[in-house]
Amino acid sequence: MGVRLFRWFPADGRRHAIPVELVVSDEGATLCGVPITVPRERGTKAEWCWPTCPTCDAVWRKREGLAPAPVRASVPARASVPARVPVPARAPVPMRAPVPVRAR
Ligand SMILES: [Zn+2]
Repeated sequence: MGVRLFRWFPADGRRHAIPVELVVSDEGATLCGVPITVPRERGTKAEWCWPTCPTCDAVWRKREGLAPAPVRASVPARASVPARVPVPARAPVPMRAPVPVRAR
């Protein structure tokens, strides 16, 4: 493998790819065209769990001559780190009679 052309960059809820030559405070754009400024911080753990931007992934693969990711309909790209999907706040159905809430 040669030199990597891009690196991952969490922005706007997705992990995008940006050119490796971009350094802190540089202005640039992700491979899918989102304008970004490289922050001093590397990003939080939560940000690195964001789903991979499919456009950036596809462009990256094309530029580096890699095979495109296998597309599985309606299944989001699996990150190496299990993404924490926000679960809609819905109370589980109680199996037994609910405990009465004491009024104050
Ligand atoms: Zn992107």
